[in-house]
Amino acid sequence: MRICRICNNSERLDTFKVKEMMFGLGESFDYFKCPVCGCLQLAEIPADMSKYYPSDYYSFNMKVPEPGPMRAWLRKKRDAYAIRQLGIIGGLLNWIFPDPLLSLYAGLSPETRILDAGCGTGSLLWRLREAGLPNTAGIDPYNTQEIRYGNGLVIAKRQLNEASGEWDLITWHHSFEHIADPLGELRKANELLSDNGKCIVRLPVVDSLAWEQYGTDWVQIDAPRHIFLHSRKSLGIVAEKNGLEITSIDYDSTAFQFWGSEQYVKGIPLTSDRSYLSNHSKSVFTSRDIRSFEKRARELNRTGEGDQAVIFMMKKSYGRK
Ligand SMILES: [Zn+2]
Repeated sequence: MRICRICNNSERLDTFKVKEMMFGLGESFDYFKCPVCGCLQLAEIPADMSKYYPSDYYSFNMKVPEPGPMRAWLRKKRDAYAIRQLGIIGGLLNWIFPDPLLSLYAGLSPETRILDAGCGTGSLLWRLREAGLPNTAGIDPYNTQEIRYGNGLVIAKRQLNEASGEWDLITWHHSFEHIADPLGELRKANELLSDNGKCIVRLPVVDSLAWEQYGTDWVQIDAPRHIFLHSRKSLGIVAEKNGLEITSIDYDSTAFQFWGSEQYVKGIPLTSDRSYLSNHSKSVFTSRDIRSFEKRARELNRTGEGDQAVIFMMKKSYGRK
């Protein structure tokens, strides 16, 4: 009997067949959706998941940025301003070329201990360190080996349940949906978190217009790599069961929810030559289509219907004001 792994409900679970479409491998996977907590989940986790993370999987190839020295210097100035409001040049650059992702780190002090779970090669952590947050570390069980950078950043090859130490901020940037045991993950996070520490989970959410509109062609199901497509309610249950609570939610969905899902409707895999990801000019979209998708994404983020959320959590006793 199938059972929701988040809320234990076993009734009225709707089943869906979802195709692997990142690489177009031709395999289909069963997912079911729980009517109680709203979570869409992979029915059976393949014994060998590594075959779905081939060596050209995108997060393994995210090179730590090595632009020319001038660009690297300018970016460091911009990032330092975005995080610590330091420097006139950085302030100007941040005003002209803002990076919304850095707003998550705005106001943090250099003492803040940050652990990023499922960070791939750690390009974001590398930038944070360059911008004046030296107490940063990353882990990713799918990396082939430990990575050590010249600026002191270490990316360990391990899962969160093998991590140690005390951390003020634990983040998952589009890695939480890949984890087979989300309850165990947040249980461990609570243990590792300092008393007034925070968690930030960036992930695709199923209570979104993209799921309503595209169903099994919704690009962010990403079968079978995304094991859980959470709703706000199901993630709230995972937090609650582990002594954490959601303190706020933002949305950062993009045009990807539209062009990616439209491609899946047409049978175009994400990494195919005809994909917008590989080649804008060979894709089925005009630049006007993309601008319209971007505009719709911004509207959905405002109304809370975008397909990517940024969920902030704290320990229960500290989150309550
Ligand atoms: Zn459920």
